[in-house]
Amino acid sequence: MNRSLEKFNRLVDALQDLPTIGKKSATRLAYFMVMNDSFVGMKISHAIEDALGTLKKCTACGGMSEDELCFICCDERRDSGVLCMVENAKDILLLEENGLFDGRYFVLESLDELSVSHLEEVVAQGISEIVFALTPSIANDAVILYIEDKLRDYDLHFTKIAQGVPTGVSLENIDLLSLTRALEDRVRV
Ligand SMILES: [Zn+2]
Repeated sequence: MNRSLEKFNRLVDALQDLPTIGKKSATRLAYFMVMNDSFVGMKISHAIEDALGTLKKCTACGGMSEDELCFICCDERRDSGVLCMVENAKDILLLEENGLFDGRYFVLESLDELSVSHLEEVVAQGISEIVFALTPSIANDAVILYIEDKLRDYDLHFTKIAQGVPTGVSLENIDLLSLTRALEDRVRV
């Protein structure tokens, strides 16, 4: 490592910690921010600081939020009877970006007691259908069965996104048409 460019190298290293960014891209980005357009660099730096200081998990759905409750959970025009279960908060962004779903969400981060009892609290608020929008896989079929069993005392319809979503492929890698169809043609589980 070139000691005289220690700070530049530190920036490259930090950028390289990001997903999909290798050494070459990291160097190019760092060079651009330092030498070509320091305004862009400052803008990114402020935006990151601001976002990290502000954004948190919505206490109801687990999605990304600037407040205790996210804008989706607060929106009374949405269908509050349908709960779409996703694997991570990123999937909410994807479904929202494409306007595919009009109900509420729940990020299923784990199957521990705490998560399941939180899910029960949410369901008890008047949910009548749970749509599992999980990556189709044998493991997730087991997750669906587990959740169904845990919620068997509630009067719920369980559905999952239809075939067309290939097994083992996560939602973000599915084309919009397939995802729309998968949601529209959801099937009973
Ligand atoms: Zn929320």
